[in-house]
Amino acid sequence: MERQGIFCTAKADQLVNWGRQGSLWPLSFGLACCGIEMMHTSMPRYDQDRLGIIFRASPRQADVMIVAGTVVNKMAPAVRQLYDQMPEPKWVISMGSCANGGGYYHYSYNVVRGVDRIVPVDIYVPGCPPTAEALLQGIFLLQKKMRRTQVTRMWYRR
Ligand code: SF4
Repeated sequence: MERQGIFCTAKADQLVNWGRQGSLWPLSFGLACCGIEMMHTSMPRYDQDRLGIIFRASPRQADVMIVAGTVVNKMAPAVRQLYDQMPEPKWVISMGSCANGGGYYHYSYNVVRGVDRIVPVDIYVPGCPPTAEALLQGIFLLQKKMRRTQVTRMWYRR
């Protein structure tokens, strides 16, 4: 009996994006109370590990930065440095009102009014704090954005 081969055809963009969206490695970056909800998504109830989302402690191994909490002026240079240390391609999720725009502390002299003043943000998750479901929704939106990326065009440009 002749053995049948299995073939899979797809565009290079689709294959690369499929691999990327299924293995997101966020840099754990809990800065304040929102960090607790971020941790919650890793716990058994939501179990983000089953989706291939596994927190990394090193920026060198991470491709997503989830900024969860209040960014103060003193922390801002460290946020930028960690972002710069992450390899390309990389994405940023801003989690919670404080990271999105200062939140409760919008008028405080020592709070950055939005982490997008320091790093480019791809997804904003609203709430104070956002629930674990809201963060997962933000991650799903990021995966959707990844699927639209034309990787080969980016290679061509380089
Ligand atoms: Fe805390 Fe609310 Fe700010 Fe999150 S958005 S860090 S829960 S004050």
